[in-house]
Amino acid sequence: MLKILLIVGDGMADRPIKELHGKTPLEVASKPNIDELASRSALGLWDPLGPGLRPGSDTAHLALFGYDPRRYYPGRGPFEALGVGAELRPGEVALRGNFATVDDNLIVIDRRAGRSLPENPELVKYLNDNIQHVDGVEVRFYSATEHRVAVVLRGSALSADVSDTDPHEVGVKVLQSKALCDDEKAIKTANVINKLTLLTYKLLKDHPLNLKRIENGLPPANIILFRGAGQMSYIPKLSERGDIILNKYLAISATALVIGVAKSVGFDVITPPGVTGGINTNLSSKAESAIQALKGDYELVYLHVKGTDAASHDGNLEAKIKMIEQIDGMIGKIIDNIDLGSTIVAITADHATPIYVRDHTGDPVPLAIYSPFIICDGIKSFSERSARRGSLGRLRSVDLMHTLLDQANRIRKYGA
Ligand code: ZN
Ligand code: ZN
Repeated sequence: MLKILLIVGDGMADRPIKELHGKTPLEVASKPNIDELASRSALGLWDPLGPGLRPGSDTAHLALFGYDPRRYYPGRGPFEALGVGAELRPGEVALRGNFATVDDNLIVIDRRAGRSLPENPELVKYLNDNIQHVDGVEVRFYSATEHRVAVVLRGSALSADVSDTDPHEVGVKVLQSKALCDDEKAIKTANVINKLTLLTYKLLKDHPLNLKRIENGLPPANIILFRGAGQMSYIPKLSERGDIILNKYLAISATALVIGVAKSVGFDVITPPGVTGGINTNLSSKAESAIQALKGDYELVYLHVKGTDAASHDGNLEAKIKMIEQIDGMIGKIIDNIDLGSTIVAITADHATPIYVRDHTGDPVPLAIYSPFIICDGIKSFSERSARRGSLGRLRSVDLMHTLLDQANRIRKYGA
C-alpha cells in the first residue's frame, strides 16, 4: 500500500484576469516544482460539490475527505467548535459567538468589541466558571481568535433549528433567538440561547477586565452574540469505514474550520510553529511537519494552506501570486525529502476564489495526481487551463478521495 500526501491551496483556483492578459494567478506564478511534478502526474478537474455549486471551505473539505456534504454537513457551528478544541457528540448543538459591546438597553454598539481582545481566554474562563447549566442544558464556551468564541450545548432533546441572537448590524437591539419550526426541541433550545445571552451580559458588564477596557477607552466585551447553530451528526471516522483501509492520518492546518472538519472524520491535527493561516505564514515548518509525518507511520497526510484564499477575499492579486510561489517552494522541499517511489502526491484547491469575485465560486478546480504507478499525461504545467486536457477528466465531490485511495490500494472491492 502507498502513502498519500494531499496538498490544498485554499481558494487557489481563479478565472482569467485582465491585468494578467487573460491568464490566471496559477498560470503566471513561477512554480517550477509544481509544474515538474505535474509533468509526472495525471491531471484533471474537480468539482468540490458539483458543477456551479459554490462551496464553503467546510463542505468542500467534507467532500475532499470522502464524505457527501449533503448527508454529513452539520452546519458551521459544530466544525468551528471542534476546530477550537471542543469535543462534540452527536445530538449536541454548537454555535459561533462574538464578544460584542452593547449599551444598557442591549443596543449593539460594536459587534466585535473592538476586534482586538487579548482578554478573550480569561473572559471565557470566567463564563465557564460561572455558568454550568441553563434549564438543565450543560453549557461550555471555547475561546477562539480575536473576539470569537464557540459554545456547545449538551443535553437531550436539543435542536439547531433556531435563529441567531446576533443582529449582524449595529444600532439595533440584540435579537431573540426563535424556533424556526413548530418543534418542542427548537423552542427549548431557543429559550436556552436567550437566557444564556442575558446571562453573559449580566456576568460580563461589570467584570474588572471590562471596567479596565472602558478606562482605557476601549469598547467593553459585555455580551456574547450567537449565530450559526448546528447540531452534530454522526460522522464515521475514515478509520472506521469498511470501504477504506486507513489507520493513521494527519492534517496540517492553522484554520479552525478546516481543523474541525478534519477532526470530525478522525484526523490527528497539528498546527506547526509559525503557521498562522494568513499570507505571512511559515510554510517551511509545514513542509517539515509533512516530511516527518510521512517518514513516521502516517498513511495519509493532508496539508492545508489558507493564504491563497485570504489574499483572494482581499482582492490582492500580488499576494495571491506570491502565495502560490511560496506553496511551490514548500512542495519542492517536501518532494526532495520523501520517497516518491511509495507516496502519492495530489495537488488541488478546495474551491475557486476568483480575485474579482472575492468569494468562492462553483468553478471546477485543477487537480494533479502523482503516483509512481499512474499513467501520466505529460502536461508540463499545472493550471485551471492545462488541467482541462488531463486524463482524469472531471471528478466530482467524493470521487477525488476514492481515486487517491484506489491508487494507494487502500480501498476495498465493491462486490465479489
Ligand atoms: Zn476554502
Ligand atoms: Zn474563503
